[in-house]
Amino acid sequence: MSGSRSSPMQALVKDRAVLAFKLEEKDALMRSIIIEGGVRSAFYVLDLGTVAELYRRWQRALPGVRPFYAVKCNTDRELLAAMSALGAGFDCASRREMESVLAAGADPGSIVYANPCKPETHVRYAAQIGVNLTTYDSESEVSKVKRCHPGCELLRIKGPDNSEAKVDLGTKYGARAEEVVPLLRAAQRAGLTVAGVSFHVGYGGTRTDVYREAIEAARAVFDAAAALGMPPMRVLDIGGGFAPTALFEEAAAVIRGALARHFGDLLPCLELVGEPGRYFAETPFTLAVRVIGTRARGETRHYWIDDGIYGSLNTVVTDGYIPRPRPLAASRVPGEKTYASTVFGPTCDSLDTVVTGYQLPEMSVGDWLVFDDMGAYTTACACNFNGFSTSDINTFLAYST
Ligand SMILES: *Cc1c(COP(=O)(O)O)cnc(C)c1O
Repeated sequence: MSGSRSSPMQALVKDRAVLAFKLEEKDALMRSIIIEGGVRSAFYVLDLGTVAELYRRWQRALPGVRPFYAVKCNTDRELLAAMSALGAGFDCASRREMESVLAAGADPGSIVYANPCKPETHVRYAAQIGVNLTTYDSESEVSKVKRCHPGCELLRIKGPDNSEAKVDLGTKYGARAEEVVPLLRAAQRAGLTVAGVSFHVGYGGTRTDVYREAIEAARAVFDAAAALGMPPMRVLDIGGGFAPTALFEEAAAVIRGALARHFGDLLPCLELVGEPGRYFAETPFTLAVRVIGTRARGETRHYWIDDGIYGSLNTVVTDGYIPRPRPLAASRVPGEKTYASTVFGPTCDSLDTVVTGYQLPEMSVGDWLVFDDMGAYTTACACNFNGFSTSDINTFLAYST
């Protein structure tokens, strides 16, 4: 394989080869991994060039807002290392996630422990390593933090109504308007500092307005804290929910406008952070799977592949990912005959069906299918049902130019 040693990301991944390629020649790269690398089972390609480009795009659209990558979205070590090297912080929700980002080279000061309801042992771990910022939306969390990590500062979380979103986190998290003052008072009584406000608008909505509403509501919390005589708040955390589409620039424009309008007076001393997950993880990962079985039934075709609904492709069921597998053929024959095809995952459950009635050319065992944009909530949500595990899937590092 023609690994380039001069890629800009090489310094980040000292012991791993990074394959340089042109973005429009991704399939050729994947073929060379298979042929020259002798690869015989499903694999990922992580394009660090796309990660770097997404980072630049974030900085252009949201200058001054530091992204704290939401680790739960994809915990790939090299992705974490790249994000850290680019200057990102991390949103962690558990001890294991904090351990992962420390192992990838991040420092504890770049972590927000953004889980409003935490197991005590994990809070004690945060105290031990010096992660000093967490979220809360209940009084019981105040006493827990006071007991286990009294030096920890809090962000009060508030999710605006976004019932139109595909993932509306507001049903589980976020204090209601009438709970704000009691929660601030509880922290004040406990002698804990409330550093600021965080929210998450949910994911999959098309209404970018929600960010404006949330920022306006956050300002009301800053004012409520001041009215209670609490030390001035300094952190505003605008959460995640961003997609790497044109909606991102639209949301960013709404956010910039709302910040100027509602936080104009505080901007010089405000620490602005976001918690994007999907925005950074989705597009850099491409999955190639191998056809391991075939069946012809009249004019329809059945194919089995070596990853499925209990693995990376759980995202089809849990996250609305629409699979559009591409055959990875060296040359496409124009006007090639296609068949209504069903693609099955490798486990023995009939639910493990990736697509049905999908047009594909005739394929044989040993052929390959490619799924694009496979980094968000894929391997992170997979299980080991039937002994098939995504931890057996190799990830090759690449850098597109
Ligand atoms: C899941 C989550 C995120 C990331 O959400 P995306 O929609 O992937 O951007 C950020 N913050 C919190 C608290 C989360 O739970």
